[in-house]
Amino acid sequence: MAEPVFKRLALLGVGLIGSSVARIAMERGDIAGEIVANARTQATLDRVMELGIAHRVELDPAKAVEGADCVMLCAPVGAYAALAEAIAPYLMPGAVLTDVGSTKQSVIRDVGPLVPEGVHFVPAHPMAGTEHSGPDAGFSTLFQGRWTLVVPIPGTDEAANEKVCELWRRCGSMIEIMEPAHHDRVVAIVSHLPHLIAFTICGTADDLEDESRQQVLRFAAAGFRDFTRIAASDPAMWRDVFLNNREALLEMLARFMEDAQAMARAVRWGDPSYIEESIKRGRKIRRSLIELKQA
Ligand code: NAP
Repeated sequence: MAEPVFKRLALLGVGLIGSSVARIAMERGDIAGEIVANARTQATLDRVMELGIAHRVELDPAKAVEGADCVMLCAPVGAYAALAEAIAPYLMPGAVLTDVGSTKQSVIRDVGPLVPEGVHFVPAHPMAGTEHSGPDAGFSTLFQGRWTLVVPIPGTDEAANEKVCELWRRCGSMIEIMEPAHHDRVVAIVSHLPHLIAFTICGTADDLEDESRQQVLRFAAAGFRDFTRIAASDPAMWRDVFLNNREALLEMLARFMEDAQAMARAVRWGDPSYIEESIKRGRKIRRSLIELKQA
């Protein structure tokens, strides 16, 4: 077995993402010699011990990070600033502080200034997930064949960046290095806008008068069903994502609304070729995704 990338990995948050990393690290043994888990509630930590996905749990984040050469923030991004403030004085000199948050400019803004001298901050974002949350939702193949976007801060120790990349490679991920603003625009279109649309369409269906709403549920066709799966995602996590990627999300939403208006116009005025062309583009994107094994 290869030498573990880290001696002690502290996971602050053990929901879908944190518990998936924990499972992989426990199974493989070459990511970290010791896994320490922290969460907001003792109930989650008790469950982590029952599941056997960490060596040790700590309710106090400061205690969890003591002696850890890697600390990974795996809570909703809105909680990062308070967490960073709580752990900053206890981070070990030379440790790597990384995260899995879905937004990157806000994380660099909120956490960056709190990182003590001598601690290497390496923001990252695994592009994998499901609509489920909590420690039971994680699984060890979650990141297999999926991308992790690593967003290094200029001037950061190269060895620290490389260790974070190696951790994700051992989780089964492929690595792409990205600038923070570019990251936020890309995820706004591929992830945040689709979620916004899914939450909205479910709200629209729910607003229908009683009789139609029941019919919606009874006859939910594949189209609506797929939206409801996405819309089942964790409210706190997505609230934080929307509020922390505001500009990129609003820009993509404005573009989308323009395109939706163009489609509405084609439908209203009976423009079959516009409608057909739009659908063909959708099919083409789906085919490319299948070819890239990201479907
Ligand atoms: P999750 O399943 O809801 O788990 C969140 C974890 O964070 C739980 O352990 C929770 O503890 C803890 N937590 C919640 N609020 C907290 C607070 N205010 N302070 C400290 N800890 C808190 O979430 P997740 O889906 O794993 O998402 C975690 C992070 O990964 C987020 O930043 C998200 O943006 C990012 N991400 C998510 C996905 C996805 O598809 N879900 C994909 C990529 C990246 P308790 O259980 O005790 O409440």
